Amino acid sequence: MKSNSTLLVNIIRIGQELLSVISKRIPLRGVKALNFYPGIITMEPKPAIFFKNHTADELASLLAPFGVNTRLAGKLQSAILRGGLDEIPKAMEQTSWRVLEKVKNATVIPSLELIDKQVSPRDGFTKYLFKGDGDEPFETVRIPLLHVKGQEKYVVCVSSQVGCAMGCAFCATAKMGFRRNLQPWEIVDQVMQIRKDSQYPVRGVVFMGMGEPMLNYDRVMQAASILREPCGIAIDARNITISTVGVVPGIRRFTREKQPYRLVVSLTSANSEKRKSLLPVENTHPLEELMDAVRQYQEFSGSRMMLAWTMMSGINTSPEDAAEIARLTAGMPVKIDLIDVNDPTGVFLKPSVEELKIFRDSLNAALGQPIVRRYSGGQDINAGCGMLAGLHMVEPDKPPCASLHDHS
Ligand code: SF4
Repeated sequence: MKSNSTLLVNIIRIGQELLSVISKRIPLRGVKALNFYPGIITMEPKPAIFFKNHTADELASLLAPFGVNTRLAGKLQSAILRGGLDEIPKAMEQTSWRVLEKVKNATVIPSLELIDKQVSPRDGFTKYLFKGDGDEPFETVRIPLLHVKGQEKYVVCVSSQVGCAMGCAFCATAKMGFRRNLQPWEIVDQVMQIRKDSQYPVRGVVFMGMGEPMLNYDRVMQAASILREPCGIAIDARNITISTVGVVPGIRRFTREKQPYRLVVSLTSANSEKRKSLLPVENTHPLEELMDAVRQYQEFSGSRMMLAWTMMSGINTSPEDAAEIARLTAGMPVKIDLIDVNDPTGVFLKPSVEELKIFRDSLNAALGQPIVRRYSGGQDINAGCGMLAGLHMVEPDKPPCASLHDHS
């Protein structure tokens, strides 16, 4: 009688353990005999392998115990990333169903939840609001490049964090503060979901949405590696752009690791005092240190250094600003990427046509290097540079701050 009741208690405990595992959505990768409770055998929850978190090589090694070789890992990755499958297929050519069954039990194919989608009637920019592995949503923007007939394509502007800790004075994302880092799969799935929703191919990815990519370095680089997998989405490394507001250790690491992606550094002011008031990162990594890292990167890459400059009327568009840029970048091949500030509150204004002309002329004269003017679209749906704030998350009494975001 006593042994029956002990058995019953143990069964209930095992049931509770399983329920707790299920309710925490911890997928079981395998079972192993382990004594959680004296006298009983129970199961040890192991974290599942998240498919979109890994390159094909990593998958081959993680799934090797289940009979998966490099070729099969590539085929599975292709089926999931390129084919968009949301579960492991039951059958595949020249593959045992038993192996597929084991892979299915060991893995998870996570997906973002689409909360909202807005298309700009003005220019076709599209903003997506996603929820991932947390309650707080984040945004992604699809940029249409449809002007060349027969070569229509999209670029996806992804978020790397929910919110941002950098506190740039003019950025709506800064208003949210930092919430969390996104996982590689949450970055990869932004591109996958948009790819599935698109008439034309996605050819480029820019890390210019919410967050400072260099502060989520490992996951961002992992996501970039997965995005360029030849058997996956196969985005060319040269079409993946990582943007930073000036996190020097990240730039140095990027250079040291010889990352093949394009780097854009947001400069916005070449005057340290002014820069401090706009980009607080200047207090931690001042211009002198930043430019040293930038020059090192430029020498390694051998290409023109792209420096982003968000233009604010009366603040950083004078001939003196142009002269300061020329002084700061002397001797280095650069390209200056000019972008208008986007500020729905009207605190920061974009330069007038006349002001812009004077600034460009001054830059041309002082710098004599390429200057491009980037179009920041989707402003009518708050998808423009610096406007990403998952607007539900901004407290009503605190409208998105003067919004300027060099990153997108
Ligand atoms: S501009 Fe970029 S780095 Fe600065 S607060 Fe906004 S998201 Fe963060």
